[in-house]
Amino acid sequence: MWDAVVVGGGLAGWIAGIRAAQRGKKVLLVTEGVGTLFYFSGIFDYGDIEGLRHLPKHPYTLFNSEDIAQGQHFVQEICPEYIINETPQSAFTVLGTVRQGDLMPRSMILPDRQEQGRFVLLVPEGLKDFFPEVVMTNMAREFPGWQVSAKRMRVDALAEWVKLGKSVSSIDYSAIWRSEEGQRVLAHEIEEIKRQYQVGNKPQEKIIVVLPSLVKEYVDFSRTKPCIEEFSLPVLEMSSFVPSPHGRYFAEYLKHRFTDLGGELMIGARAVSLNQESPSENKARTCQEVIVNSKGKSLCLKGKKFILATGGLLGGGIKVGMARKSIHEGVFDLPLFVPKEWSEPQFFASQPFAQIGVETDELMRPLDPERGEVVWDNVHVVGRMLAHWDPWTQRCGGGVSVTSGYAAAELV
Ligand SMILES: Cc1cc2nc3c(=O)[nH]c(=O)nc-3n(C[C@H](O)[C@H](O)[C@H](O)COP(=O)(O)OP(=O)(O)OC[C@H]3O[C@@H](n4cnc5c(N)ncnc54)[C@H](O)[C@@H]3O)c2cc1C
Repeated sequence: MWDAVVVGGGLAGWIAGIRAAQRGKKVLLVTEGVGTLFYFSGIFDYGDIEGLRHLPKHPYTLFNSEDIAQGQHFVQEICPEYIINETPQSAFTVLGTVRQGDLMPRSMILPDRQEQGRFVLLVPEGLKDFFPEVVMTNMAREFPGWQVSAKRMRVDALAEWVKLGKSVSSIDYSAIWRSEEGQRVLAHEIEEIKRQYQVGNKPQEKIIVVLPSLVKEYVDFSRTKPCIEEFSLPVLEMSSFVPSPHGRYFAEYLKHRFTDLGGELMIGARAVSLNQESPSENKARTCQEVIVNSKGKSLCLKGKKFILATGGLLGGGIKVGMARKSIHEGVFDLPLFVPKEWSEPQFFASQPFAQIGVETDELMRPLDPERGEVVWDNVHVVGRMLAHWDPWTQRCGGGVSVTSGYAAAELV
């Protein structure tokens, strides 16, 4: 029997699994896919924490400031390149606009706007969905005191591919930058930039190279060297776009952290239902095991605690049929909060369907919204599966997932 079975391998599930394993617990993580890490920009958004804690039933109301800070420090502990600051920091998006965020890697943080200098945008040949002219215009608008120029570059390993007219994805380029060949190409390009702009005796201009698809952090433990060496000029990462290289390497990295701590893993496995102890009257039920379909087999996995991190509507944890009544949570069949109206005509407004999820008590145990009673006493619900929040308009997706995942692991 496991101390905890975590169902779902998105951000919330990995954080819960890693923390529980770090606490010496015997943990199994069962997941069908990678979840919304596929879209992860590389930046953790926490939103206006104090403001959101005043919203009735928002997940942040389940936690105090210390719980939230503990989750943030845990991210920093497992990803030492991430910086916690009192105020939000800023990074370039892949459009050259500026985006704020609460926890981001050191190599993404923008310099002070009041300073002066030059950004040199490296433009990799054939990079899909990357528009250098737009990026440069936006960068110049955001940093009026700075010069912005571009340098096109090619990587021999991809030349044939580009010649055939095929575009190269952000994921492909990020793999190149992390390879030895990529590092050589970058070192060469950066030396050329240095020669071009830092010439003669004129006072040296501050130069920052900006490179899309670069992911410096999430070091593979088996390596003795960092993924990206230091170059002769500072190199700034841009936040990721879909498919997200940051998400790809972060997911891989979380998996390694978890298994290195002794966590057990079932990937490509779907939890479908559960077995329970015989319920007694007036008492929350106890789940004994979840039933998981994996490689054509059905397995019963016993646990003392279960952490449900299946990600709500987008993650696949909530199923919606053609008729509205067919909405349901797919493992424990938990009662869901479902607003009367699902959508709001204004496209960019907060959409009511975002609030769909499971209501819980302060220990994140699922509640029956009508009776206010705990439904399962050894199940904790985390991340996007929680009700009453909206990661898009409230910009707190990473914050809620990390905080709840970490807090659930403390209860194992
Ligand atoms: C487009 C987009 C971009 C975002 N960008 C950012 C960002 O840049 N910064 C930020 O802070 N937040 C961002 N967020 C929000 C944030 O990523 C999410 O709130 C958060 O990742 C949710 O994590 P989760 O672990 O709860 O769910 P998910 O990431 O959805 O993971 C759910 C997991 O459960 C698995 N699963 C589902 N059902 C089962 C089952 N029955 N059995 C086994 N496994 C199952 C899925 O395969 C998946 O692995 C973004 C969200 C979206 C949609």
